[in-house]
Amino acid sequence: MEKIDFSAKGLGSIIVLSGPSGVGKSTIIKKVREKMPELRFSVSCTTRPMRQGEVADVDYHFLSKDEFLRRREAGDFIESADVFANCYGTLKSEVMSIAENGENVVLDIDVQGALQIMDKAAKDPLLAKEVEFIFIVPPSMEELERRLRSRATDSEEQITLRLSKAVHELSFWQKYEWLIVNDDADTAAEKLYWLIRNFSLGVRKH
Ligand code: 5GP
Repeated sequence: MEKIDFSAKGLGSIIVLSGPSGVGKSTIIKKVREKMPELRFSVSCTTRPMRQGEVADVDYHFLSKDEFLRRREAGDFIESADVFANCYGTLKSEVMSIAENGENVVLDIDVQGALQIMDKAAKDPLLAKEVEFIFIVPPSMEELERRLRSRATDSEEQITLRLSKAVHELSFWQKYEWLIVNDDADTAAEKLYWLIRNFSLGVRKH
């Protein structure tokens, strides 16, 4: 995969947000963007079918498996992963055009994808300076299960799958720099909002 040039001046923060499926990432991001409309969202590519209420090229770029594999082969993704038997990937072009414009961009990606970006950041000090890794955790596994069931979008089999992936994903929390417990979506969104405000003010871990 070709190396990305992160030497551009005034890069905005690249905010990588992970957390188990059903923890409420999308809701939190939506709430933060209502207060901070300038915060950009990296629209991922996926091969999974569109859900009711989703809008193509707003929630995801919905691609066929062939198209996804072609783009992956062409090196179009910063990271990509197979999640629940579907492919997901973050477009290099999407993130870099936003960050190079000095804007903050949030990526809602799973742990596999975040680990790939952590790997890149470990080799690229300029990227490391601009990327922030945030993990959203549920207050308990019982609460996560309750939330997954109340979404009513998944079958029993999918819920079991999502719960076992959640246990695996949660074991990676220490890899992340920031942790937000989502016991209440408004409070969690407020915490994320202030964290991002601090990044914009130049508060950095290094
Ligand atoms: P969903 O299908 O429920 O929208 O997302 C399932 C999981 O895929 C979520 O944990 C979400 O964070 C993750 N995901 C969404 N887009 C990407 C992506 O571009 N890359 C990776 N690695 N994971 C993604």
